[in-house]
Amino acid sequence: MTQPAILRVAVNAPLSRLFDYLPPAGGDRIATEALLPGCRITVPFGRQKQTAVIIAHADRSDVPRDRLRPALAAIDEAPVLGEQDLWLIRFASNYYQHPIGEVVAAALPAPLRQGKALHPVIQNIRITEDGSAVNVEQLRKRAPKQASLLAVLQDVTSIRFEKLDELRPGWRTVRKNLLDKCWIEVEEVSEAPSMAEAADAQAGPTLNTDQLAAVEAIRSSPGFQVSLLDGVTGSGKTEVYLTLMKDVIAARKQVLILVPEIGLTPQLVSRLASRLGEEPAVLHSALTDTVRLAAWSAARSGTAKVILGTRSAVFVPLKNPGLIIVDEEHDNSLKQQEGFRYSARDLAIARGKHLDVPVILGTATPSLETLQRCKDGAYQHLRLPTRAGAAAPPLLRLVDLTIHPSADGISDPAITAISKNLQEGGQTLVFLNRRGFAPTLICGGCGRMAECDRCDARMTVHASSNELRCHHCGASRRIDDDCIECGGNFRPLGHGTERLEQALKGRFPDHSIARIDSDTVRLKGTMNRALSMATTGETRILIGTQMLSKGHHFPDLTLVVVINADQGLFSTDFRGSEKLAQSLVQVAGRAGRVKRQGQVLIQTGYPTHPFWGELFSGGYEKVALSALEERSNTAWPPFSRLALIRASAHKLEDAKAFLETALQLIAPANAGNIRVLGPVSAPMERRAGRYRAQLLLQSVNRQALQRLLQTLRVQLENDRGSRKVRWSIDVDPVELF
Ligand SMILES: [Zn+2]
Ligand SMILES: [Zn+2]
Repeated sequence: MTQPAILRVAVNAPLSRLFDYLPPAGGDRIATEALLPGCRITVPFGRQKQTAVIIAHADRSDVPRDRLRPALAAIDEAPVLGEQDLWLIRFASNYYQHPIGEVVAAALPAPLRQGKALHPVIQNIRITEDGSAVNVEQLRKRAPKQASLLAVLQDVTSIRFEKLDELRPGWRTVRKNLLDKCWIEVEEVSEAPSMAEAADAQAGPTLNTDQLAAVEAIRSSPGFQVSLLDGVTGSGKTEVYLTLMKDVIAARKQVLILVPEIGLTPQLVSRLASRLGEEPAVLHSALTDTVRLAAWSAARSGTAKVILGTRSAVFVPLKNPGLIIVDEEHDNSLKQQEGFRYSARDLAIARGKHLDVPVILGTATPSLETLQRCKDGAYQHLRLPTRAGAAAPPLLRLVDLTIHPSADGISDPAITAISKNLQEGGQTLVFLNRRGFAPTLICGGCGRMAECDRCDARMTVHASSNELRCHHCGASRRIDDDCIECGGNFRPLGHGTERLEQALKGRFPDHSIARIDSDTVRLKGTMNRALSMATTGETRILIGTQMLSKGHHFPDLTLVVVINADQGLFSTDFRGSEKLAQSLVQVAGRAGRVKRQGQVLIQTGYPTHPFWGELFSGGYEKVALSALEERSNTAWPPFSRLALIRASAHKLEDAKAFLETALQLIAPANAGNIRVLGPVSAPMERRAGRYRAQLLLQSVNRQALQRLLQTLRVQLENDRGSRKVRWSIDVDPVELF
């Protein structure tokens, strides 16, 4: 192999371009010929040292040869990222208009980003022959610490540093003495990942006709094909996954499953392990770096047959990819909302196409994007319309708040239903997607509300900590006693989960009530404990936010009360009705999955709103189809593509001026097929002390929009105004705020 002339590398920096380096000067541990794309090297970058990944080799550079700097050292002898992985990274960087070095950083586990070895090096202490011959009891009189360490080693011969730290804290102080006497030696081993032995797989239930039909439809087209598995909650989507996963494992290939949230992994992990007899490799942000690296590396080497992870797991290298599953494909959490704003679902589809493997999108409430692809014939639409087993679908009912008064946010019919449900031994979930005690404080004298000093937003009351907190910037302060304007008294306005908990505890003092929201489960382990009490039925009334509406399975749950659905009815977001219907159907799906038919009460002050008519007559599908028609008429996604350019600065003028520049750069490049809206202030103009503005680009022509963004991004990077602002490009944004 000839020596690469120039290494073109990605550096973790907010710049779109690659950087050219000469290979490291001779004498390096690793031969220059081995420096293939996908290998990491250390390079001088500005005044610092950086870990970089080789993306390509080049014969020439735009930088004159005498000004090219040599890399400092090679890290890997063989690429850590393969050709397919680099393809995905380049694709994601181009599509989302994001600096490639930051995309690489998102794709690599932290230790690899920091230049550490792929296989963690483990240090052991090993006893020598001389050391084994020492009489420990005699040594103990002179040197008790040394003796104590040697005693352990005479028993086990070799032991890890970390293990010794546990057994003999302080052993490191006498290490040198024993080394000098040649009684012990240090050995370093690089540990390749090993997976738990395969266990026996438990048998599952027999598939019903719909499940079998779905399995057959997916089996019948090997290779790339996107299938929407559209199954009502409780219809047994997981059984379909499991059957197909067994096929893939039997063919000695790997399955990648993406889920929107960490909270959904524990239940799924144990189910997969027991049913497949394979321990899945798990990748999410709550794991330690070492554990994550081990899982990543097991996927890369092919040892892990099943890889389960959240968003960023879409980048995990796979030795023998066989199937990609995206569970809860409609969920917004699959789209990263800051930094590198990518959709794990959309990248999973692109990756499946490139690898020529099937992709399954599972959900009870498909996104409109996915539904439209089915209508176009691009995806196959597989339905599981009934619940598996004998469970009947839950019964939905509206509670009209204009005729039924409510105290503390809960109407009389809801209270009656909860009492009746408790008497009958059922469990209740009270759903309110608003944590805290009350959304804000209001002055009884002048009507002033408690606002955040740094955001255009109200402060939420948190009574248990006697604080006002801003849910947008995290600021907090003590609850104001009196109004500074008029001296009037403040009182809480509206309801949050904390206030609801207080009210329900007052109403039902003899029953176990638990609140599960991000305030109560902040501590490690509390979420699992709360969930397990809810699952066993120990908790009779559960109060929860969005967190509880997803995927969790409560066998005893027979009643769901939705406290306030009206926020979603009048949302300014064009996705408002889609999101509201999804969240209602998901939360309703928690009810009555095993024993009895579930009941769902939805409180609304607008019972005649057309949304309810659609939901009650035709369920989610009717709401979705009517929303699709509306979007088709107005040419919003999925009938057009969006890109949002955001800018924020300490002065509103700077943010707006930057976007004006963008506007001027766009005009000559726009062949008339891109609609530009703005610049305008963001719906929340000030957040965490920064002023925010945005420019929305819309086009029915995806390629035209992509081409324009490609040029625009480089121009903006080089624009002097860009130094005064923080800016970003969000392709296919899910939030327009
Ligand atoms: Zn006042
Ligand atoms: Zn704030």
